[in-house]
Amino acid sequence: MVSFETLDQNALRTEVEKLRKEYADLQAKNLKLDLTRGKPSPAQLDLAADLLTLPGEDFRDGNGLDCRNYGGIDGLPELRAIFGELLNVPVEKLVAGNNSSLEMMHDTIVFQMLHGNVDSVRPWSAEPVVKFLCPAPGYDRHFAICEHLGIEMIPVPMRPDGPDMAIVRELVNDPLVKGLWAVPIHSNPTGVTFSEETVRALATMPTGAQDFRIYWDNAYAVHPLTETDAPVYDILAFAEAAGHENRPFIFASTSKITFAGSGVGFFGASAENIAWYKKNLSFSSIGPDKINQLRHLRFFGDADGVRAHMAKHRKILAPKFEAVLNILDNRLSDAKVATWTRPEGGYFISLDVVDGTAKRVVQLAKDAGIALTAAGASFPYGRDRKDRNIRLAPSLPTKDDIEVAMDGVATCVLLAAAEFYADIH
Ligand code: PMP
Repeated sequence: MVSFETLDQNALRTEVEKLRKEYADLQAKNLKLDLTRGKPSPAQLDLAADLLTLPGEDFRDGNGLDCRNYGGIDGLPELRAIFGELLNVPVEKLVAGNNSSLEMMHDTIVFQMLHGNVDSVRPWSAEPVVKFLCPAPGYDRHFAICEHLGIEMIPVPMRPDGPDMAIVRELVNDPLVKGLWAVPIHSNPTGVTFSEETVRALATMPTGAQDFRIYWDNAYAVHPLTETDAPVYDILAFAEAAGHENRPFIFASTSKITFAGSGVGFFGASAENIAWYKKNLSFSSIGPDKINQLRHLRFFGDADGVRAHMAKHRKILAPKFEAVLNILDNRLSDAKVATWTRPEGGYFISLDVVDGTAKRVVQLAKDAGIALTAAGASFPYGRDRKDRNIRLAPSLPTKDDIEVAMDGVATCVLLAAAEFYADIH
């Protein structure tokens, strides 16, 4: 196959005919496959099966605390020490909570809308408008929180080393820009890991709002697909050295380490922020699920226990990513109708098809029984102005199913591209 762009109209029409036949064959297979969400597969969940019988009869942590009872809003110190090491956050600045870091992100934004944060002069909701910078493509659920709470989202292009800092620096001068979303390691969905320079720039840049916060969602901090862990930069220290110690709000969880629905979420921040968070939280909680925290503590033992566990995930995940990349390489390279990421970690591959065809590709795939994430989902308001980005999530299906699904997706990408260039819709 040659680049579609070099084909004349006749050749393109022939290509469309050929691909339509291929697509009809695909439809005839009556597939029912799903590449939508980054859920761990049953085999990955099985890796943490011991959690189901832990902590057994043992209900005390190393300090003798009876984990069955109320209290301990900070979470178990020993578990916080393990994740403090992995996330590069001092243990006293890290809270362990319940099963969802997304809930913590949501709640902290609600707290700020209602009361402001420690640096606010008024609640965010008393501002004429609240704006967040949204590096895009990004995590759809971050954007959904903003949309739900009436926060205006400003997209910022993603670059290979993080958000475009020239644009960020300019936009944060606006005092109504109160926040920025960031997934600093193996970003959802681009796989981008922020460079040290980007991390430092974000931590130290001047901002118009004195109560500006970075939502540092380190969901994939320990999730490499290669043998090398990405460096976890100490954003709290960078920010503190620049006089902005309250700027970072750090989040993480074990959702993609143990059980996605029954893990432990973490919140890290300056001492003042942690006190603020606990005060706000104390109205809705008398303490987190410490038995679940204890179970995680016993399961891992220490930070190396987490790393060893992640190596087992990698063995399951890496071949699936490889399968997707092989099919994209084999089926789409020559036609030059798409580009895609080659992530070194995380849960996603980000596929850019011919501008203006992503929606069509997703529809074609759907009509052939292959569920893909909605086109545009990774952009604020679901608006991909170029209509070209598709997020692929290879973790849940088996490798065999992925191969069948991706072969089908490749056919859809090619067909949509050929129709587009031939001007047949
Ligand atoms: N942040 C990112 C970037 C994610 O991709 C996900 C899950 N897909 C989450 C947060 C959700 O985290 P949790 O399960 O801790 O709520």
